[in-house]
Amino acid sequence: MEKRNLAILGSTGSVGTQALEVVRSFPERFDISVLTANNNYETLIAQALEFRPMAVVILQNDLYSPVEEALSGTGIQVLSGADALSEVVELEQINVVLNAIVGSAGLKPTINAIQKGKDIALANKETLVVAGELVMGLANQHGVKILPVDSEHSAIFQCLVGESNPIEKIYLTASGGPFRGKNRDELLFVTKDQALKHPNWSMGAKITIDSASLMNKGLEVIEAKWLFGLSPEQIDVIIHPQSIIHSIVQFEDGSMKAQMGLPDMKLPIQYALTYPKRYANNYPRFDFMAHKELTFERPDMETFHNLKLAYQALREGGNRPCVLNAANEIAVEAFLRGEVSFLGMSEIIEETLCQIKNVDNPNLSDYMACDEESRLVARNLVLSSAY
Ligand code: NAD
Ligand code: MG
Repeated sequence: MEKRNLAILGSTGSVGTQALEVVRSFPERFDISVLTANNNYETLIAQALEFRPMAVVILQNDLYSPVEEALSGTGIQVLSGADALSEVVELEQINVVLNAIVGSAGLKPTINAIQKGKDIALANKETLVVAGELVMGLANQHGVKILPVDSEHSAIFQCLVGESNPIEKIYLTASGGPFRGKNRDELLFVTKDQALKHPNWSMGAKITIDSASLMNKGLEVIEAKWLFGLSPEQIDVIIHPQSIIHSIVQFEDGSMKAQMGLPDMKLPIQYALTYPKRYANNYPRFDFMAHKELTFERPDMETFHNLKLAYQALREGGNRPCVLNAANEIAVEAFLRGEVSFLGMSEIIEETLCQIKNVDNPNLSDYMACDEESRLVARNLVLSSAY
């Protein structure tokens, strides 16, 4: 493989820093052209000094000066603001844009990168939840690859290598999170600290809360629909607390392929960056004797409403998944600030879905407007203190 030139959006986050670990272990395989961060400027500066990109973007304009000062004399261009974040992916030499931003803020940079013919390594599932049809259509039109980084979708993608046969269905596995097995009474007063303790994965705060509420799996069902062209009925969720089987494809003859491994995001990140090749690494290997039991359960959608809401939004289509996602982002932020309860998050999402009118066949500006309006409605619900 010739050297790949990367832009890493959200390089200071959980996926971003693990992607840089992968890059660090294959210095002869990758060049970095762009690194970006929301407000963690100290990490961004350190990364820039180590990896020497052409440009960095710090989203928050008021943090431009410290970054610019620290990098002066290095030749690294320093930019700030949302427009710069979208435009920086256009640099000629970039082959692959790894989108590791959290939330719907990742949508515009993804679209811009696709339109400039860059392959996308996609961790930012919210991009596909908000505007999956539009994004996949553009990717098709511009002949770019969308390489999944999300571990379940990477698993499905890996099971499909070499297959031209139709999929009968897929099983997305879910750990069940820290509250697996609890009922609604037991969830009434759970705290942010309890919700942030994920049993198997160490991730950013938003996705960790989403994992505790099963919204993460709901978003992943929608993500899978667009990545693999499936109907909602072809996508099943199965709770697998050990997180060893990362997902399963079932073909029309009943045969199933599963992708397995220790839960380590560096594996799907590396595969997305080196696809279709696999490079030898020395990450810990799976030991059957250390994991003698792999178990499976049905998800409890009566306790965890979010998964049901996500399936509903997917079936109804239009702007529903966009509303679901925006309301969830606001609800999670409010939960992390201690302003709404754990179960209140689903109620806010459900109420926002009721208040925002459906729009069929939305275009990009419809999605942006819907995202903004849904956030406003959800914010007002948070302020009402009823949740
Ligand atoms: P994180 O919070 O750790 O990092 C997010 C990154 O995005 C940071 O670099 C931050 O500076 C940047 N960012 C935050 N808000 C931004 C904004 N409004 N505009 C631009 N940049 C912004 O998140 P994460 O856990 O690394 O997750 C990133 C994405 O990957 C999410 O969509 C998540 O669902 C997905 N994902 C993460 C994991 C994981 O293990 N962490 C696994 C699968 C999928
Ligand atoms: Mg996942």
